[in-house]
Amino acid sequence: MSHWYRCYALMDSRGRWRAWRFGPATTEMQHQLEAEARQAGHVLFASVQTFAAPADATGTTRWRQVREQYTGGSALPHLAPLYFDVDAEGDIDKALLWARVLVEFFVVQLGLPEPAVRVWFSGSKGAHVLVDPVALGIEPIATLTADMKLVALELVSHLAAQGAGDMAIDEAVYSLPRMLRLPDQMNPKSGLFKIELRHQELFQMTANQVTDLARQPRGSLWSDDDLSDESVPQGAKWWSKALARAREPREFRIRTAQAVGLKVRPDGYVVDELIGSTMPPCIASMIRSAASPGTRNRVELQIACWAKGAKLPLDEALALLATWTTANRLELSAENARAKAESIVRSVYGNASYGFSCIAARSAARAVDVGPQCDTCQVVRPRSLRQVYSLRVRHDAQWNPPERISLEDARGLTARIIDRRVAACRADRPGRHADRCRQDPRGRSRTGQARDAGCVCHAHA
Ligand SMILES: [Zn+2]
Repeated sequence: MSHWYRCYALMDSRGRWRAWRFGPATTEMQHQLEAEARQAGHVLFASVQTFAAPADATGTTRWRQVREQYTGGSALPHLAPLYFDVDAEGDIDKALLWARVLVEFFVVQLGLPEPAVRVWFSGSKGAHVLVDPVALGIEPIATLTADMKLVALELVSHLAAQGAGDMAIDEAVYSLPRMLRLPDQMNPKSGLFKIELRHQELFQMTANQVTDLARQPRGSLWSDDDLSDESVPQGAKWWSKALARAREPREFRIRTAQAVGLKVRPDGYVVDELIGSTMPPCIASMIRSAASPGTRNRVELQIACWAKGAKLPLDEALALLATWTTANRLELSAENARAKAESIVRSVYGNASYGFSCIAARSAARAVDVGPQCDTCQVVRPRSLRQVYSLRVRHDAQWNPPERISLEDARGLTARIIDRRVAACRADRPGRHADRCRQDPRGRSRTGQARDAGCVCHAHA
């Protein structure tokens, strides 16, 4: 596994993170960091995921220097065991019970051997269950953690329906990277260690017995030699079916996002940082300044990405970019500059992995030597992720149909909304609004259609 990388982090006694490191996923690296943690009285965490080597792999670096390579549009693959963080809000007995249900599923139903289904008491209130990726035939891929979340949640709701009652797992743990306390590290709050449990212990011990056992580290109960290099047929079949079920709606969501011109990440989330169509300072500063030949491509790309994010019509985006390109590519004729701008705008508008990002825009702005004032920017909201629902309504398990109401109720609801709008509209500058209605050149006001101000004009008649 030496060509795989892992994220490591030390936490001090006050619960504060030290900078997250990114280094080879080797036992030497882990031992070295364990020694460092011991010496400093820190707790060692490592990502549950391992990552394909970064582009400029040179030993250990910081996570923030490579994170873009694993989360961006052309993210590198990562691998992880199928993991579960079972936490029943402080009820250790219940958490142990739920961990048993999971272990039983993998061992009894799928026929996985014990070393492939490992369980740890977390040292505080819950349990970690990690299932060997090889046994399940899990392949490295950039969207694995997002896929895993869907598979894990589906499994848990299936098990709950089968009789595990109110069983639940922590959904928040399916993030990249997910840092887990390493085995035999202490939890400073409880004074207990994260310790591995044999299946027999998991099934027989009470919460008190487990916490007693966790008063000291206990070492690893299994080694890599206990694992087979082959997948377990039943397990691999389960994973590939569950994965296909999990992915299908996402693929349709991505296509839907593409169709409506949104930027969408490989995991299916839409990235939408812009609040309106006002130009943010990072873009405005680049538009104003001249760029050297080495940086022009980046600036053009960022302008087009912003235009797309701000939902500018294609011809407006083209006009904006063509002006800049003509002024900055003096070696091109006006016609060729326009053609250049058009090809950039078309490829950005036609590819769902392009969209506005203040971080990318700022870094391009810095490359042309302008320092935009993004900290006071009003039009960019901090990283917000949302999902679009796929157009395949009945085939998308993630789609929550709106509550059904009767036609009568719908009419009543609509009438109340219109009344409220009309009242608000009358209270708010009645004179000016009536003027606008009279000036409507298309005479739409007479037909009673809603106007831009969100009020209904026939109410003024
Ligand atoms: Zn910005």
